Amino acid sequence: MLYNEKEEEIIQFWKENKIFEKSVESRSKKNPYVFYDGPPFATGLPHYGHILSFVTKDVFPRYWTMKNYRCERKWGWDCHGLPIESICERALNLKQKNEIYEMGLSEFNEFCRSKVLWYTNEWKNTVERMGKWIEFDNAYKTMDNSYMETIWFIFKKIYDEGYVYKGKKVLLYCPRCETPLSNSEVSMDNSYKDVTEKSVIAKFKLKDNSGTYLLAWSTTPWTLIGNVALAVNSKLNYVKIKVEDEFLILIKSRLDIINENYEIVDEFKGEDLINKPYEPLYQVSVETEKIGHFIIDGGEDVLSDEGTGIVHMAIYGEFDYEMINKYDMPIIQHIDERGYLADGPENWKGLWFKDVDKKVLDDLNSRNLLFNTEDYKHSYPFCYRCDTPLIYNALDAWFINIQRIKPKLLKTNEKIKWYPKEISKRYQNIVESAPDWCISRNRFWATAMPIWICMQCNTIKVLGSVKELQDHAIETVPDDLDLHRHIVDDIHLKCTECGKIMNRIPEVFDCWLESGSMPYAAKHYPFENVDWFKHNFPSDFVSEYIGQVRAWFYYMHVISILMFDEIPFKNVVVNGNILAEDGTKMSKSKRNYADPSLIIGSYGADALRIYLLASQLMRAKDLNFKEEIVKQVYRRFNLLLVNVLNFYSLFEINNLSADNPKSENILDRWIIDLVNNLTRDVTQRLDDYDTGEASKLIINFVEDLSTWYIKNSRNRFKSELLKEKLAAMNTLTYILHNLSKILAPLTPFISEMIYQKLREKNLVKYESVHLDLWPDFDQSLSFPNLSGKMNLTKEIVQKSLELRERVKIPLRQVLNKITLKGVSLEDEFLELVKKALNVKEVVIKNEDVFELTVELDTEITRELKLEGIARNLIRNVNNYRKKMKLSTKNRIKLYFNTEDNEILESISKYQNYIKKMVQADAIFNKINNNRDIRTFKVNQSEVSIYLEVITFKNSTK
Ligand SMILES: [Zn+2]
Ligand SMILES: [Zn+2]
Repeated sequence: MLYNEKEEEIIQFWKENKIFEKSVESRSKKNPYVFYDGPPFATGLPHYGHILSFVTKDVFPRYWTMKNYRCERKWGWDCHGLPIESICERALNLKQKNEIYEMGLSEFNEFCRSKVLWYTNEWKNTVERMGKWIEFDNAYKTMDNSYMETIWFIFKKIYDEGYVYKGKKVLLYCPRCETPLSNSEVSMDNSYKDVTEKSVIAKFKLKDNSGTYLLAWSTTPWTLIGNVALAVNSKLNYVKIKVEDEFLILIKSRLDIINENYEIVDEFKGEDLINKPYEPLYQVSVETEKIGHFIIDGGEDVLSDEGTGIVHMAIYGEFDYEMINKYDMPIIQHIDERGYLADGPENWKGLWFKDVDKKVLDDLNSRNLLFNTEDYKHSYPFCYRCDTPLIYNALDAWFINIQRIKPKLLKTNEKIKWYPKEISKRYQNIVESAPDWCISRNRFWATAMPIWICMQCNTIKVLGSVKELQDHAIETVPDDLDLHRHIVDDIHLKCTECGKIMNRIPEVFDCWLESGSMPYAAKHYPFENVDWFKHNFPSDFVSEYIGQVRAWFYYMHVISILMFDEIPFKNVVVNGNILAEDGTKMSKSKRNYADPSLIIGSYGADALRIYLLASQLMRAKDLNFKEEIVKQVYRRFNLLLVNVLNFYSLFEINNLSADNPKSENILDRWIIDLVNNLTRDVTQRLDDYDTGEASKLIINFVEDLSTWYIKNSRNRFKSELLKEKLAAMNTLTYILHNLSKILAPLTPFISEMIYQKLREKNLVKYESVHLDLWPDFDQSLSFPNLSGKMNLTKEIVQKSLELRERVKIPLRQVLNKITLKGVSLEDEFLELVKKALNVKEVVIKNEDVFELTVELDTEITRELKLEGIARNLIRNVNNYRKKMKLSTKNRIKLYFNTEDNEILESISKYQNYIKKMVQADAIFNKINNNRDIRTFKVNQSEVSIYLEVITFKNSTK
């Protein structure tokens, strides 16, 4: 059976026996471990980033469940906002926002509703295949009425407490989607791209008839049309220079940008320029009483090392807008909401704002108002959904006042445990620089904002539930009212002040307000589950990739402070990003990564899980995904364990037990000590949300188990001494039982395979390892110094094997003696060395040597040669036994033929030893049969053998 299929069989077992449900139900409600799963969009297929989050979010709930906590897990879907809207616009071939109005909001929103859960089946399959346990089918959705009603409740509470205001602010704005985007939306997916554009130094003529021009620099030529002021730094030095017959003014420190010959005719402070009027480059038709086009003091924000020290001001910048307000200048928005030129030169009207750049350059040039232009490379923001270049735009919007709660956010951040720790500081910086939160969107498919305004007297009414709406609405409102815009827009209120009609404002909520409200809205709190909520808030654990630090984590924190003055989560695990092998972004079109289903098909989910969990992703660092390493993990971890399990299955014995076997054998004691220490160390790491170290400890243990313990214990498992065999078997049972539990959170499949093997033998208590309890460290099982001495033993063996390798004497050739210097070890360890190296004697000579040295006596005497031949024969006979599928219970008669005298001598000398090792009752020096003969080479001569299997009556039948 393929490894992949074994895992799928386990998934079936879990499903059929409802193991996940039992793992939750068997734990007391009084002892919860609370976990919030952040809702993803189902508008695309799950990728590696999602798989990483499935795995991280699965490990800790499994771990704490085994520690006897009740961890309820419910899936959720993010259904609203720009991502789904832009997919639907593309599907419907809508290019502009007004086409949505033409189509009808109802039709558009219902189309979004029909598309939003498009890929849920694919998600379910991947979640299940990765071994992530969660209640999937009854997922909460942010478009549920109950979810949206909680959003209303939360908004009303925040509004009533005075945290909400309406204002004009300069925000990043997508002219195609016609909506503002929040800074976090833009920065979380790194929507900035390096672009090369034309920067320009334009000449603004002073209105003093002196023929003097101010040089002002801009990287967005189209904004020059809406210029309202020029800003200088009043404290810095400026110069007036003469170039040919023109006078130019710029900051003194930037004189190096002048390539022509010039003569300085005057030098003065920036303050001498303040309030001087100049001629605008373009006329706009905006009528305003406010006066613009004079020089203002921009203070320290006007830099001396960039541009010309004279900054052009239009509404399209945060600093500009601040200055426009400060100096009470006119607001000129010469670009319409869709990004087209609405004001300025008549024949340019209707041009896309980016196309205006070139027009301005040519036009200024023809009017001799262009000082110079050059290529300018900078990082520019683009819409994360439609890839349109964003602009800064001054917009009317609704805000939550973050500045007022900032001290609380910062203070309570100290209570949050971030993994890795350094994210805490980064988060602190994010909070410190956070602007007020723009929570309104000029879009369609999201929770409608519950604000109504009177057309007559501007009275505002904010509602917090469907019930309140029923109480105030003019129309009849059903209990199950859909709170989407296309429904709620048709409901009106009667103004309590003047009795006239109130309309809902057109805005909908930012979908981050929705996902940030998940702890309450997923449970329809406080309309339902008030009691449940008391025991399930805040959450013990959340996890997402690093982009969510300034997004989901931040918004959850903000809302929870506004609601309860409390942190929403205690422990946060932050993942890095998974990149393609070459370090670039994984991209479907570039085909620079293997499909996750292929990786899982080849190596199984566990190998992928532990590869991710052991990686630097868990320390919030990016990882270049390498299939080769998954393959190595599969070999070094999964296959080794499967081999151990197969080996274990070979032997049958009565009175087997999974309890501490209390064996005297040094290897048994060592591996018990090791698994006990592993329990302690992995517990510590997982308590500290560190899967990286935990995974490495486990991988190393599996290697020790397979390549040292099993390898050097084989003979004891085959021993005819019942006591010796039972000690070995009991020890391995004990190890496998404990190991299956330690593996369970990280690699749930192989852990279950091991556990079920023990369950077949009635050695374990529970139906599944995932219902069992986490093992405890047991002080009484600790043998101090043991592992140190064993490591030394391993080192000696390793060095000696290298020596053998060098002189090319295979391990099965027994040698006389090994001499050790600079070491002291008890006999039981030396005995191990002897067996592992196939030598007859270990001698220790400690004469003035402090460093370990190993000398191997490589002389092959006749004695040794004969012994080597005997072992070689044994190996060949046993291979044949294996081929014939004989078990250790099947006894044989061994017949052989050879002409080699040394072989004959060896067989006669080692007759009894050979019999014992191949389970033979007798050996005959002839073959009187011509079938089933096997021939092989020993001592460079041919030997033929025939095995007669002895059948005997089974006395128990
Ligand atoms: Zn857009
Ligand atoms: Zn009114």
